[in-house]
Amino acid sequence: MAEIRLENVRKEFGEVVAVKDISLTIHDREFMVLLGPSGCGKSTLLRCIAGLEQVNNGRILIDGEDVTQLPPRKRGISMVFQSYAVFPHMTVFENIAFGLRMQKKPDAEIRQRVQSSAELLHIEELLDRYPAQLSGGQRQRVAVARAIAVQAKVLLMDEPLSNLDALLRLEMRAELKRLLDELQATVIYVTHDQVEALSMGDRIAVMRNGEILQCDSPIAVYNNPAAHFIGSFIGNPPMNFLTARVLDGKTAVSVHETTIPLPPSIASQLKANTELWLGIRAENIEALSQTAPDTIPAKVLVVEPLGSHNLLTVQVGNELLKVNTHADAKFSPGQAIWLRFAADKIRWLDKLTGQSLI
Ligand code: ATP
Repeated sequence: MAEIRLENVRKEFGEVVAVKDISLTIHDREFMVLLGPSGCGKSTLLRCIAGLEQVNNGRILIDGEDVTQLPPRKRGISMVFQSYAVFPHMTVFENIAFGLRMQKKPDAEIRQRVQSSAELLHIEELLDRYPAQLSGGQRQRVAVARAIAVQAKVLLMDEPLSNLDALLRLEMRAELKRLLDELQATVIYVTHDQVEALSMGDRIAVMRNGEILQCDSPIAVYNNPAAHFIGSFIGNPPMNFLTARVLDGKTAVSVHETTIPLPPSIASQLKANTELWLGIRAENIEALSQTAPDTIPAKVLVVEPLGSHNLLTVQVGNELLKVNTHADAKFSPGQAIWLRFAADKIRWLDKLTGQSLI
């Protein structure tokens, strides 16, 4: 069992408030991702949970026990850093054994735990080597093996894959996900890579400026971003946003002179003439080569064949949108097209605050 509860956790560095009164519960055996751009406070929050930073305010509870004032080694956590931090003068065996030796475990137990951690990470053949004799991916595996060998109930990982090249990163991502499923530890995983977050997390806490803007399942964060920033940060391409104006009667909006119905639940919150963001993902737009009712006229600017599909960049008025089409669809730059939005996939946001209206 390892539930982690953060209550109003605050961390300041002089004038900079790196973590602003964050409250969050991470469930037992959950895989929680902290995602956000550089400087948003995700590493600082992780370091507070680890006990490597003292909080200015708030409490951190692990399984109901207040650990806020406890040193890292008394919190029952284990951590993997971006920089691997493997010891160059120790063999792989000794690197993995490090935490266990600190805990003064008997030799037989150390041997057995090092062996089983190494097997889980497929590095049992490398136990006699030194880090200099390993590839980057193998070194990363040693760092993970060392973290899991101590069998902590909480595993904290700070950008553990970011030093690897793209292909290895993809491979390790799947491997790490399988491994962490098997371990059944509670995991908090920091990344600025939204694909990593979407593919690995049970939930994603999206951070900006020391705050959590949304904490939800990957699919909910992707489909229903709570704010403009989240839609623009998550997904490749990011969510499209178009300006829409609420029409008299409030049953519809106008988007570049096309009328699009407004769900009644949203309409009731709004005044006529209010400006909204209409959010829609590239895969939820249909591109037609001929006009049809309720479509928005656009012009193709760029066609990018991506193998599985084509990505169009199109211009609507003075706004640019990304649209997915079939790989065999024949569109070319300069062509006039008409766009149809999947009505149930449209997100409505307040243009002034950038907040979702649902
Ligand atoms: P990155 O992805 O670049 O590592 P991050 O989201 O992990 O970014 P943090 O490292 O947590 O961000 O930093 C949050 C803010 O706190 C930043 O403005 C950073 O400059 C500041 N900060 C972090 N550590 C310190 C420190 N030891 N002293 C002063 N300021 C710090």
